[in-house]
Amino acid sequence: MSKPYVIDEMISAKAIAARVEALAREITRHFQGTDKLVVVGLLRGSFVFIADLVREIDLPVEVDFLEASSYGDGMESSREVRILKDLRGEVHGRDVLVVEDIVDTGFTLQHVVGLLRSREPARLEVCALLDKPSRREANVRATWTGFEIPDEFVVGYGIDFAQRNRNLPYIGKVRFTGDGE
Ligand code: 5GP
Ligand code: MG
Ligand code: MG
Repeated sequence: MSKPYVIDEMISAKAIAARVEALAREITRHFQGTDKLVVVGLLRGSFVFIADLVREIDLPVEVDFLEASSYGDGMESSREVRILKDLRGEVHGRDVLVVEDIVDTGFTLQHVVGLLRSREPARLEVCALLDKPSRREANVRATWTGFEIPDEFVVGYGIDFAQRNRNLPYIGKVRFTGDGE
């Protein structure tokens, strides 16, 4: 059993929707004229974000997914990144947008971007919903970021704590209650 906790709202569903729309406008402008944009969602945390984002992107889009592991089920990141599920499609010569839920230490994104760049896409950009700049260790950054947040453990809008809370429509921070014994 996990310790009891509550979730305090940090970013409302309405604020997320407005930001997603603005991000999609910038992405659409950046890739204007592309024959196809391959949108790569990093599973599982980005699944809600990518669903909302692609519906606001006014370009021909292909959706693919890649799963990398770093957190396991806990709250600690690790430097060792493994690819658990690779893309189904080719990215060679394609325009690619990587969609990530949170950039924390940056090791996951660095690994994934390195892997995809080795396949020689025409263009590769990154859109991250959340960024925790104070936590960064790897030298990597997203092209577009939804929100910069402090060093808090967050859940909701696709993001889990031990596989729970992904279905919250907002982003909240986890606060443990009780005597912490
Ligand atoms: P990084 O490799 O940048 O340290 O870790 C990135 C991944 O760790 C994110 O894509 C996300 O899956 C997970 N992560 C980072 N911060 C949080 C957080 O506050 N809450 C949850 N649930 N996952 C996080
Ligand atoms: Mg992630
Ligand atoms: Mg997780």
